[in-house]
Amino acid sequence: MAETGSLYKNRVLMLTQTFFMIDNKKELLLGAHKYDFDILFFDQMSDFVNTVHNSDENTLFVIDLDVLYNMQDDMQHTRRQTMFLSDLLQRLPTDRSYIYLQTVRQGERFLLQQKLVDSNCLAYAEKPITNEVLVDKLFNIFARNKRGDSNTVIYLGEKPVFDIGLLSDNKVQLLQYQDGHTLHVRVKEAQPDLVLIDEAQYLQTEAVVRVLKKNIEFDIGREIILLQDRQDAALTRRALDSGFDEIFMPNDADVLTRQLLNRINKIRASKDLISRDRATGLLNKVGFQKKAQEWIRRASRENKPLTYGIIDIDKFKNINDTWGHYFGDIVIKRLSLVLSAQMGEHDLLSRFGGEEFVVLFWDCEPAQGKQKLDAMREAFGRIDFEVKQGENKNFSFSGGIADFPTWNTENTMFLQADAMLYQAKQSGRNQVCVSRK
Ligand code: GH3
Ligand code: MG
Ligand code: MG
Repeated sequence: MAETGSLYKNRVLMLTQTFFMIDNKKELLLGAHKYDFDILFFDQMSDFVNTVHNSDENTLFVIDLDVLYNMQDDMQHTRRQTMFLSDLLQRLPTDRSYIYLQTVRQGERFLLQQKLVDSNCLAYAEKPITNEVLVDKLFNIFARNKRGDSNTVIYLGEKPVFDIGLLSDNKVQLLQYQDGHTLHVRVKEAQPDLVLIDEAQYLQTEAVVRVLKKNIEFDIGREIILLQDRQDAALTRRALDSGFDEIFMPNDADVLTRQLLNRINKIRASKDLISRDRATGLLNKVGFQKKAQEWIRRASRENKPLTYGIIDIDKFKNINDTWGHYFGDIVIKRLSLVLSAQMGEHDLLSRFGGEEFVVLFWDCEPAQGKQKLDAMREAFGRIDFEVKQGENKNFSFSGGIADFPTWNTENTMFLQADAMLYQAKQSGRNQVCVSRK
């Protein structure tokens, strides 16, 4: 495939021994490209360090610690590995963090391991590691770094004992609320990840947690935490029985905030597992539908139009059958890049399954939505896929569009857009049809 460096915003700089990489390099690169990042290989410490200095935030740094053996070969010493490790670690710019690859044997030596994790270590991995696993893990780290989503916490109580600055540094928005009897309404609107209830409020309205939890639409990922002022085993037991997930003792704002952040990180991770497609990092169907429903509610409050579009690659079975499933996956991946590149900050993009994508454009009339989809269609059509050495092919997709407020639920928009997609396929493919009422 004709790849250009500029296609990839995300890059990995990898310091590794050339002889180890020689067979691996091509496969590792193919895998990385599929996941939308590039790898630059280095076998010289100084080149590596220079490039690290000049890298932007879309870069990860991987160090294969076997490079140490290479350096050691030049010396006549045998027991200086730790020292060389220190040398290496010392030469790394300290304002970055690194992913270290080590052998299992290295990992078994605790002092070495300790030195490593204390040296700007973002993560470490043990070798042997397959290219697939390595690429997948790196992709996950990119996806995690990129995630702009903020989390919302609702606090029912009167005296917030949190470090608000630390929360907002971690993209957590805290909403304070003081009425236990309407908390469930507030929760429904704001869809927080965490609900904190202080002891006084709980004692006033003990049913509050049951009311939240018995709602059939309760998000099972959401946690409800009691901030208990004093040790009282009977109270704790009652609170746990009535549905609190955790009890925190808010003696110290700093400690409490850290506890909350840890919980929120767990919630973020499990939300991603449920709502994102692993191969592309895009929202999956479940994640999209949840957000789309929020978008529709907001659009109706704020009187904004939305455009809903379905995209389906043309004759994709043919692509799979002719050039293989792996090649088909790459076509899907490349389409996801084309689509992502043209999304606005408030638009939603999802991989609905297979070779189907769904978009939702915020504050967008259908005519404008069609222009956007057509621009994407043309951009995708221009990509040259090298199916064989020297032989390029272009592919296309078809699209269907429906809009809000003409259609006013996620489901009716989907059905209508799907009918339009069908029409686009019937009319010869490689086009976008718009629903008109
Ligand atoms: P049409 O132009 O009418 O859309 O024709 P089509 O061949 O694309 O038909 P359809 O959309 O029904 O076919 C989708 C095919 O995509 C069926 C399935 O084998 C294949 N597929 C689904 N998921 C994946 C995937 O993740 N990777 C690959 N390589 N193929 C997939
Ligand atoms: Mg399809
Ligand atoms: Mg198709």
